[in-house]
Amino acid sequence: MEQCILIIEDNPDITRVVQYELEQAGYRVLTAPDGVSGLTLAREHNPDLVILDLGLPDFDGAEIARRLRRTSNVPIIILTALDAVERKVSLLEAGADDYLTKPFHPEELVARVKVQLRHQQHGEVIAIGGLEIHPQKRYCQYSGQEVRLSPKEFDLLTFLARQPGRVYSREEIEREVWNGELPQNSNVVDVHMANMRAKLRDLDGYGLIRTVRGIGYALKTP
Ligand code: CA
Repeated sequence: MEQCILIIEDNPDITRVVQYELEQAGYRVLTAPDGVSGLTLAREHNPDLVILDLGLPDFDGAEIARRLRRTSNVPIIILTALDAVERKVSLLEAGADDYLTKPFHPEELVARVKVQLRHQQHGEVIAIGGLEIHPQKRYCQYSGQEVRLSPKEFDLLTFLARQPGRVYSREEIEREVWNGELPQNSNVVDVHMANMRAKLRDLDGYGLIRTVRGIGYALKTP
């Protein structure tokens, strides 16, 4: 089956060249000239990979990457004119899988696309102790048994599991998992944590989620 790649880029010359190269390589290509239409296309067509320009007319590319990440684990390759190291780190933290600095060789981009799609096909697995999370399949198990999580619980557990041991404040969790859309003093995060804990406990998974009093939550390292 033909794999679909979405290019979100406002420079029509770059879009044209990249689209051409990708189509030559056998991919179906969708294009969007700004972040909002890019997010819409991503929602409607569920592409296999997104190529994302950092400097878009409406939104910063990192913000678009973050929004894509909220609902999908689609591989994201960022195109950036910037070369600052700290920017790259923040991009990768925003959920980008790879980045290319402009100007780049279209063939280099196609090679990177292939690498990402291969990873995706193989499927990422996050394994921590007896816990196993398959982000692409949205599947989670504990000691071999499926943990039936709601979509938000799944997002939340995956978020914690990406850096086990790191303590996240409630504010950070609200911002990253709920997109800062929760009302102030909401207990939604705590309720979700309690539900996840109960589900893990049912499978004899005790103490996997740590509460750090006055600070937040962390996934216990094995
Ligand atoms: Ca641009």
